[in-house]
Amino acid sequence: MMPIEVQIFAVLLVGLCVGSFLNVVIVRLPRGRSLFEPSSRCGFCRSSIPVWMNIPVVSFIISAGQCVRCGFAFSARYMVVEILTAILFLSFWAVWGWTSELVIMALFGAAFVAVSFIDAEFRIIPDVLSLGGWIVALLIALIAPDGHSVSFMEAFLASLVGYGAFWMMSRLFYGVMGEEGLGGGDVKLLAMIGALLGWPGLIGSVLVGSLLGSLVGLLSIFVLGKTRRFPIPFGPFLVTGALAVMLQLDFLWWEFWGGA
Ligand SMILES: [Zn+2]
Repeated sequence: MMPIEVQIFAVLLVGLCVGSFLNVVIVRLPRGRSLFEPSSRCGFCRSSIPVWMNIPVVSFIISAGQCVRCGFAFSARYMVVEILTAILFLSFWAVWGWTSELVIMALFGAAFVAVSFIDAEFRIIPDVLSLGGWIVALLIALIAPDGHSVSFMEAFLASLVGYGAFWMMSRLFYGVMGEEGLGGGDVKLLAMIGALLGWPGLIGSVLVGSLLGSLVGLLSIFVLGKTRRFPIPFGPFLVTGALAVMLQLDFLWWEFWGGA
């Protein structure tokens, strides 16, 4: 067993590097560009960013978040995504320990970070993340590594219900309201969450997602007025529910449920 300090250092380091890669995914995937070529460039002067400027967080601080050639200010989101991913990985480690489940949670946690930022900006969830994640989650349930508590049957049924029930709901919503509530991307995301986390994940996602979604919806009507409502990206809210289950925080609403 590795010493605790080494584990923490390794988890944080991997989190920062994965976060750095997620920044590339968030910028390029929704635009249909290759994730691996060309190397990162300044969005303004197009000069390529040198390797030593690609160190997570450190480079951003040294360069004050600017291009070394032209001084163009990079979005603070780059650093936010890196730090967020590192904190998320460390939290998974605190909950799951140095186990194979930690690797699974980190893998899907990373996918959920990308889904959230892409959906928030572009109002889409790329299939390669949602359907790709769904297939990988089903495979993991089939292989059933030590500590993975969701059986293949549960994974399969929960994703089927997640997809089927909410696809019907989204069509019904569209039929009645004449506008999109849950989109097709959200429905596929629910299938992925159901396959990874089983019933608790599906229920948690829908519960937290609808709660946060209505809250933000009401707020947008209140602040922007009814006619200027913006379409709400549900992905980040559904993901919040899934992350709560992945961090074993779902007792929060089960307690409430039992006490009601
Ligand atoms: Zn530049």
